Amino acid sequence: MLKAAKLTILFSLGSWLFSSQVAVLANTASKSPEIYQKAREELPEDVYSTYRIVERIARANRIDNAPWRVVTVPEYQINAFATEANLIALYNGILDQLAGDASALACVIGHEMAHHTERHIALSPAKEAEIRAQIAEEAEAEVTAEAEDAQADATGAAVGSAVIRSGGGFLGGIGGLVGNTGGAVLENESRQRISRAQERIAEIIALKEQELNESLADNSRKYEFEADQLGYQYMARAGFEAEGCLRMLGVLGRTPGAEFDTTHPAIPKRIETLKDLMKDYPAENLAQEGEAQLAISQPLTYDLSKDGESLRINSHRGGSSADDLEQMFDR
Ligand SMILES: [Zn+2]
Repeated sequence: MLKAAKLTILFSLGSWLFSSQVAVLANTASKSPEIYQKAREELPEDVYSTYRIVERIARANRIDNAPWRVVTVPEYQINAFATEANLIALYNGILDQLAGDASALACVIGHEMAHHTERHIALSPAKEAEIRAQIAEEAEAEVTAEAEDAQADATGAAVGSAVIRSGGGFLGGIGGLVGNTGGAVLENESRQRISRAQERIAEIIALKEQELNESLADNSRKYEFEADQLGYQYMARAGFEAEGCLRMLGVLGRTPGAEFDTTHPAIPKRIETLKDLMKDYPAENLAQEGEAQLAISQPLTYDLSKDGESLRINSHRGGSSADDLEQMFDR
């Protein structure tokens, strides 16, 4: 689910977050689950659930050094994606399909967080477009060089025939005839040369594009397996039910199209791989590790992100650099 989807209309968190004076919330100092209570009251249910899940996964796995952002996309797609740095986007469709199953949702969220921590977004859609443009540009440069070369030959042939034609007289006439014929042959040859060169360049472009597509698809499938595996560990450490991942993949498997996406491995293969992983890394052991981390950390606060559209789940330092400064120097 590393989908290069475009955020069109985003759910605007702004109005209700500002109206409920979220800024009043304390930062790192707050210890009680009052933050959770307040979040439950003021956030829409899907956003609240997402906040709680990200917050818990981040602390249990010690990936709470930098803020996370979450946004819900009001489009009915059974999907989620991770494109911009630390942004997790969830489509309405997947929230709907997994409604009432926090563990399955935690698996989706863990998967997206894994794409970020593993830097799978290094090749962004923008970067990919850049590589494709470069391939075309290089090929075009080759075409131009070939064409200029052939053009020079054609010019040479024309000049040759003109020189012979200028001989004059009877011999000159024959010479001109021979020269003309020779020139026409040469021009014809250079035209053929241009067209052969263009064909060859087109082949090169096609080959390079195919190689690029295959390597992108290979990488993408590899990333999906990695994100599945790490995502499972993330959610299990946070104490969610491991089976949530199997339920989530079950939903994806029933979604038309999900099986045929060439950038994603087949769902049965993902389920099989995940089951093996669950044997190697039992959820109970992971939960114990996570419990220890949760016990020594504080709930993470949240704010409306400066992008005005997503919820920012603050790092363990809180969401205020001013508070951080005062804590460091004004005591
Ligand atoms: Zn993915």
